[in-house]
Amino acid sequence: MTLPSALTPSSTPDLSARTIAYFSMEIALSPALPTYSGGLGMLAGDTLRSAADTAAPMVAISLVHRRGYFRQKLSDIGQQTEADVPWSPETTLPSANRIIALTLQSRQVLVRAWRFDVVGVTGHIIPVFLLDTDVEGNDPWDRRLTDHLYGGDTYYRLCQETVLGLGGVALLEALACRPKVYHMNEGHAALLAIGLLEDHLAGIPLKDATEADIEFVRQQCVFTTHTPVPAGHDQFGVDQMYQVLGHDRGAAIEQFGCLHNSLMNMTYIALRFSRFVNGVAMQHGKVSQQMFPGYKVYSITNGVHAATWLSPHFQELLDGEIPNWRTDNQYFRSVYGIDPARIAAAHNKGKLRLFSTIAKRTGHHFNPNVLTLGFARRVATYKRASLLLHDPKRLVEIAEKIGGLQILYAGKAHPADTAGKGLIRDVFASAAKLNSSALKIYYIENYDWELGALLTQGVDVWVNTPRRPYEASGTSGMKAALNGVPSLSILDGWWIEGCAENTTGWAIENGEDEAAEATSLYEKLEKSIAPMYANPGAWSRMQQHCIAINGSFFNTHRMLAQYFENSYFPPTPLSTVQTGYLEHRRSTDTVVAEAALV
Ligand SMILES: *Cc1c(COP(=O)(O)O)cnc(C)c1O
Repeated sequence: MTLPSALTPSSTPDLSARTIAYFSMEIALSPALPTYSGGLGMLAGDTLRSAADTAAPMVAISLVHRRGYFRQKLSDIGQQTEADVPWSPETTLPSANRIIALTLQSRQVLVRAWRFDVVGVTGHIIPVFLLDTDVEGNDPWDRRLTDHLYGGDTYYRLCQETVLGLGGVALLEALACRPKVYHMNEGHAALLAIGLLEDHLAGIPLKDATEADIEFVRQQCVFTTHTPVPAGHDQFGVDQMYQVLGHDRGAAIEQFGCLHNSLMNMTYIALRFSRFVNGVAMQHGKVSQQMFPGYKVYSITNGVHAATWLSPHFQELLDGEIPNWRTDNQYFRSVYGIDPARIAAAHNKGKLRLFSTIAKRTGHHFNPNVLTLGFARRVATYKRASLLLHDPKRLVEIAEKIGGLQILYAGKAHPADTAGKGLIRDVFASAAKLNSSALKIYYIENYDWELGALLTQGVDVWVNTPRRPYEASGTSGMKAALNGVPSLSILDGWWIEGCAENTTGWAIENGEDEAAEATSLYEKLEKSIAPMYANPGAWSRMQQHCIAINGSFFNTHRMLAQYFENSYFPPTPLSTVQTGYLEHRRSTDTVVAEAALV
């Protein structure tokens, strides 16, 4: 194949010392780039930002997503419409100066890549290669393959996942990068294992691979699974698998025991080819263990990148008091040495900034002296955005009794999720009915990186109401905690580990049904939260606990260190690590059994 002349190989950073390759379908790299949709991409970006700060020997692979996920527009009644977010890597990023060729459905697809450098506090760089099929010479349909994150049908998706897995491995090889560890951040990247196996076999057909060949690949791969929700585990018909991957790869995937319920299942490919598998919070590891009983599943609890999510006001305060927090997040424990009144003051500036931004964008004014709840997340039915509005009469009564209440909502529904879009309209309808002098509910459009930061830095209490046990981790509450914002949440995901009642926030008690859980939510709001909010001294000590206790743990510096110790380069045999230490806490067994039905 001849390379276009502009793309002759030139300067790429020396990658020969990079020992870990991180593969993710989405990565939030900059607020200006639409290369992510939500939590998974944020986590990937935060992981790489911590890797850069701590000088980890990593390199990362994703797709360029030239038209992004989407920009959300909401009508007066909350009807969501979507707009593309086109961007031009050619005018933004350096080229990787390599073109590789993949075979998809027996036609050749050329893939190039753009390099985004994640730069750490000390200047260490994590290069991220964004694969792009918009290359001259490709079939016009193939040129659009890396346009839409989570767009198109299953055929489009499988082609994208093939580009990510096989294209990523081929690109690293072309760049003379030979990692020792390949990290699949979710099953989308699982086909990288097939790429590694093909390289290892060097021309021998895949179907002739021995168990030793597979073991050779397994020893290089680790896998993080991110959700117990079935829709999060991509599967494809076997016919489609053969159609896209061809006979040799398709037959091999079948023969290696990677089908599940007679479908090509990305999670099972990842499980089969990984020497270490983990969930993203202690309980999620346990739930995943029940879903995949044939495999040992460990847990490494998620975190967030502190410098990305701390408000400028807190950054200034902490730079003065505990300047080493940027490289070592354990210093967050030392905020106990800072006067709580200064913490409250830093938070208050974040609240004012949030309200002035909303006023500028929408013309709606919020009162900084009124207790303000935040609820922002992807709109999916299991997240139950409307639990807070379950009993409107009760909510209004509480608002009147406690001297006012403000609730800020945000969140996108996937363009194909009609039920999710209905939930947004429901919140709008409730708001229209309930808004009064005591209660103000407002749904802000286009939840993204910037809005997520403003909200988690500016509200007083972060609310999360998922149906157990579907919240694998949740990371927005961690962003809030870092900014001195307590959570009011269902005991699911990270909150089982992060909730110290009346200290870092409040647990909504597990109930038989939605009504029972809503009742618990209202009781906590009325009897615990509002009285403490009315006592600024007590409230500021709680803000301090949030940062000292949860900020010092739920960060990606700690998380990445755990990946190094347990997943990437474990010093001790893995079988000594056990999941399930949460057994003694509230019983999760029934809900766990429910999730195991997936
Ligand atoms: C942090 C973040 C998420 C993930 O938060 P969850 O708590 O997992 O819902 C999603 N979207 C945006 C824009 C975020 O900043």
